[in-house]
Amino acid sequence: MTKHITVMAGDGIGPEIMAEALKVLNGLIDAGLDVSFEEHLFGGAAHDATGSCLPDATLAACEKCDAILLGAIGGPRYDSLPREQRPERALLGVRSKLDLFSNLRPALLYPELASASSLKAELVADLDLMIVRELTGGIYFGEPRGIETTDGGEKRGFNTMTYSESEISRIAHSAFRIAEQRNGRLCSVDKANVLEVSELWRETVTQIAAEYPDVELSHLYVDNAAMQLVRAPKQFDVIVTSNLFGDILSDAAAMLTGSIGMLPSASLDASGKGMYEPVHGSAPDIAGQGIANPLATILSLSMLLRYSLDESKAADTIDRGVRQVLSDGLRCQDISGDQPAVSTTAMGDAVVAAMAN
Ligand code: NAD
Repeated sequence: MTKHITVMAGDGIGPEIMAEALKVLNGLIDAGLDVSFEEHLFGGAAHDATGSCLPDATLAACEKCDAILLGAIGGPRYDSLPREQRPERALLGVRSKLDLFSNLRPALLYPELASASSLKAELVADLDLMIVRELTGGIYFGEPRGIETTDGGEKRGFNTMTYSESEISRIAHSAFRIAEQRNGRLCSVDKANVLEVSELWRETVTQIAAEYPDVELSHLYVDNAAMQLVRAPKQFDVIVTSNLFGDILSDAAAMLTGSIGMLPSASLDASGKGMYEPVHGSAPDIAGQGIANPLATILSLSMLLRYSLDESKAADTIDRGVRQVLSDGLRCQDISGDQPAVSTTAMGDAVVAAMAN
């Protein structure tokens, strides 16, 4: 049965990078991939055309499809809108309407780009790790929260870190399934030596491991995980962790790779349906110049095919194409250093050509 993708290019460099991802997708469809896609307005572009950053037709398309591919949204023109009408709010709206609780942040470093990392090349060359972060619970949402004034007149701020068994269970299942599709190793990160909520996290993840005999589960305390990530990051395959710990660890892992223009991401629901997007924003400073790096969006498409549409052969074809263009020496300006850079469209064309080989 044909699978359907909702495509939302968005704002700034969004349409430029999405055009290249769609070249790649069309190439795969021409070669027999049974997928269709439909483009919809989202973010500032939707606001300009319809008065809403998340038009009803776009939300309906997101609800109906099998997966969503997003470029980027936002820009200075929309920063003066009331908060609830801004593009960023529309993004949160889609995430919460679709209950996208599992955030996938891969950190992948091609050997050719190892010098862009803040770590020594031998520590990071060929790095390929995936952080699965719980996105809709934990201390960012826990109640009670607030700032109060005590009887003594002193102000006191407080938040609550809370996870129910069902919240832990669904993120654990999501992470185990991802580990099954990768190298079969899952590291759960918590602070079970200090926090009761982490004790429950560890106990629940350990119980669920019995359902995934092909995945080897390990546990680390978050402070040790942070150390290991900068000491020997290649030891990890998949890391699963809570919202707060994942927020911090995934940004640290992203920096190991050196370039924001190369990093894809995804947010999944319990069934594996998801929204896929580059980690970077709409880069208004370079929009319209034809120099944005489209690889993070192209790699987001690869993740979409692998994790939501179960089309790992097509995903492998894209990954191989990206590897090939990098080893051929092609670079957009964000990763070119002193070398000459290629344009957004030249990079997209080169990936399509490399995929055909
Ligand atoms: P940004 O990621 O857009 O840009 C940061 C820097 O990285 C800029 O110098 C930019 O030129 C560069 N850059 C980003 N992507 C690149 C690419 N593909 N190729 C080459 N260079 C690239 O972050 P920002 O400037 O803080 O935010 C700009 C706008 O994007 C804001 O309106 C922000 O709210 C929005 N934003 C959207 C998303 C999203 O759509 N999910 C995420 C983050 C920021």
